[in-house]
Amino acid sequence: MTQAQLEALLHRLTGRLAGALRAEPFDPRVGHQVGAELVAAHIASAEGLGRTVEVIQLRLVRDLGLVADDVEDRMARLLATVTTGYARALRDRTLDEQESIRRAAMTARAQAERALRDSEARFRHQATHDPLTDLPNRTLFTERLTAAIDRPGRGADRIGVCFLDLDRFKVVNDSLGHQVGDALLVSVAARLRRALGDHLVARLGGDEFVVLVERTTGTHDVVRVAEAALAAVGEPALVDGHELTVSASVGIVERPVVGASPVELMRAADSTLHWAKAAGGARWSIFDPDRHRDELDRYALSAAIPAAIDRGEFYLDYQPLTSLRDGALLGVEALVRWRHPELGVLRPDRFIGLAEETGLIVRLGGWVLAEACREAESWGAPAPFVSVNLAVRQVHRPGLVQEVGGLLRQTGLPPERLQLEITESTMMSTAEEPVRALRVLADLGVRIAIDDFGTGYCNLAYLRDLPVTELKVAGEFVAGLRAPVTDPTSRTDERILASLVSLAHALDLTVTAEGVETEGQADRLRAIGCDAGQGWYFGRPGPAAGCLDRSPALSTLAGAGAVGSGG
Ligand code: C2E
Ligand code: CA
Ligand code: CA
Repeated sequence: MTQAQLEALLHRLTGRLAGALRAEPFDPRVGHQVGAELVAAHIASAEGLGRTVEVIQLRLVRDLGLVADDVEDRMARLLATVTTGYARALRDRTLDEQESIRRAAMTARAQAERALRDSEARFRHQATHDPLTDLPNRTLFTERLTAAIDRPGRGADRIGVCFLDLDRFKVVNDSLGHQVGDALLVSVAARLRRALGDHLVARLGGDEFVVLVERTTGTHDVVRVAEAALAAVGEPALVDGHELTVSASVGIVERPVVGASPVELMRAADSTLHWAKAAGGARWSIFDPDRHRDELDRYALSAAIPAAIDRGEFYLDYQPLTSLRDGALLGVEALVRWRHPELGVLRPDRFIGLAEETGLIVRLGGWVLAEACREAESWGAPAPFVSVNLAVRQVHRPGLVQEVGGLLRQTGLPPERLQLEITESTMMSTAEEPVRALRVLADLGVRIAIDDFGTGYCNLAYLRDLPVTELKVAGEFVAGLRAPVTDPTSRTDERILASLVSLAHALDLTVTAEGVETEGQADRLRAIGCDAGQGWYFGRPGPAAGCLDRSPALSTLAGAGAVGSGG
């Protein structure tokens, strides 16, 4: 309010008060209005009221030329109503102000709460979603899975999980770059979300996705979801200017929720996924508890190998390699066994494959080699050579020459009394190092045999360039000789074997037939010129002393206690 406005207002109010003082009949309520108007004009301080009273009391009467005594009574009442009106208006205004402050505070608090909720929601979204595809992430998936399993009253509910992984995604990444790889993942995520609408689809990381299928009635429900997912992934997609078609593998687990745990479900789905991958990909596999248990057992068994070596749970059996010409014991094959504290004696088929997969075969094979050399040396001379199986990894490992050379030196076993059995596939790689290593060993005098000949690549011409001394023909071939000579297939097998033997001889290789179980087989093998035989007919694998006993020249040694016990 400007000074002029203020003056105009005061002038008007003064006029009203003067009017009231003179009016007939006298109405003191004018004072209420004047008081309220003063407050409304923001003349609202204690001094403002004091000044007003003073003006009214002293100046009004004088300025208007009224006789003070005449209006004394009216003046007093008017002053009372002005101050009352003023005080009321002031109180109302204060209340109004308090109210609006309260409202403003409430609004501010509501706004702050909303902002907090929004940022919390944003934060939670970030924590539970994958930034690339915006699909739920592992955290959210696990939450939902756990909730589905623990839901109260879940009773007979069943639940399913599809674990999906793109086939050969790495090739896309490596050949087209990570940007294209990322764009492909985004596109796959969108297709999965569209195809599987109701079901929770999450990205676990990399090219791994997982689908939660709640309230299933059996495996078929989840199979249907898996097929929809495979179809969605398989649609050709234009990604970053490239037309890409990818496939996926899916592991399916479906079971009652009672007794399920999220961790165990996910692990089961994961291993089932690997079955689908191992079967060639672009397919689903269903969880099989027996197979899963086998795999876990196999895994546990392989993990136990190093400690078992340290505890001395492995030992060697020996099986005779017998001359077909005169029945002499030429050599013995060392076959490893595991005296497992709980499972009893385990044959190599139970653990060698595993040890090869995990690489533990290098340590185990090293132990076998050392043990075989040590025992064979104690047999004295003349004695059979000891034939030791070498896994692919052992042959391909640098340092094989030093290892074998060192063992021969330490044990004092003459090189010609050691034979190394390797499979054809060991030599089929293009690497030159293994061939070079074997040649150095052969030059030392160590015998090199090709094991299980005929089950692999079977290339005799190739053998010409390898430092090989002997072929061990796989038992499958020899099995054909069990049938009567009159059997046409048996005669065919015999002819194949005969030409194999003569080709081997042409290459200066000796031939040992494996799996000889009957006298008839031995006779026919002898007739076609096979050099040696191995099999139950000649002797089962067992402690060294047993093999050596059968050799007349050695039985005396064995009897004299110069032969290792062989376990
Ligand atoms: P392999 O090298 O072919 O060894 C011969 C296998 O045939 C042995 O099984 C032996 O018990 C079995 N056998 C011998 N005579 C007969 C017979 O007349 N009939 C039949 N049906 N079978 C016969 P084993 O001891 O179970 O060994 C299995 C395989 O395990 C071996 O096959 C060899 O590949 C591997 N292995 C054994 N010891 C070692 C080792 O120290 N290192 C490596 N890398 N592999 C080993
Ligand atoms: Ca062998
Ligand atoms: Ca063999």
